[in-house]
Amino acid sequence: MRDTTKHQGLRNQLASVLEAKGIYDTKVLNAVRKIPRHLFIDSSFESHAYQDKAFPIAAEQTISHPFTVAFQSQVLEVKQGEKVLEIGTGSGYQTAVLLEMNAEVYSIERQHELFKKTSLFLPKLGYRPKRFIFGDGYKGLPEEAPFDKIIVTAGAPFVPKALLGQIKVGGKLLIPVGDKEQIMTLFIRKSPKEFEKHELGDFKFVPMLKKKN
Ligand code: SAH
Repeated sequence: MRDTTKHQGLRNQLASVLEAKGIYDTKVLNAVRKIPRHLFIDSSFESHAYQDKAFPIAAEQTISHPFTVAFQSQVLEVKQGEKVLEIGTGSGYQTAVLLEMNAEVYSIERQHELFKKTSLFLPKLGYRPKRFIFGDGYKGLPEEAPFDKIIVTAGAPFVPKALLGQIKVGGKLLIPVGDKEQIMTLFIRKSPKEFEKHELGDFKFVPMLKKKN
């Protein structure tokens, strides 16, 4: 696992590209400058690792575009020590960003291959979520609820009720909703029964998978 000054230079450039695209949260930009994204993808893509592109990871999944990760992280407004549930661990890059923002992270992955790979890989880089869970994100994580923030990193055909029920009052659920393309949708829980909904533009994610294998 090599990380060089050249990689650092490319990361700084990527952070500038993201800034130009509207990312202003310094915690997010610093995370992008710090996390060695080239180590999260297959070495054959290494030379492109710091472009704003998605790449295949294992199990027909993709590591999200850096802009998407940065945008979601910025919208979440993660504060020190907040409890954050991530649905769709994937490569673990988004998980690392949340940890750089000093969140207490719980991350669920539905595909065993990715769950195993990433739960071994992230600690090697010093990234330690509170828990990695092999499970079904549609159910959330009732035994650890409520969460300050919940982030979904796969395209959801609908908004799972269980997830809305697992955010604190004042907390946020950020979820891309739709089949082929998704609308990034933010729910803010105003009271036990009231949610404010904001639509934040079009994105493209791999689909959130229905049933657990
Ligand atoms: N943030 C990740 C995104 C990976 S793609 C990254 O940038 O690497 C979406 C991930 O969600 C995939 O790993 C996929 O296996 C996972 N996923 C899909 N459906 C899921 C579900 N129902 N529960 C949990 N994870 C799911």
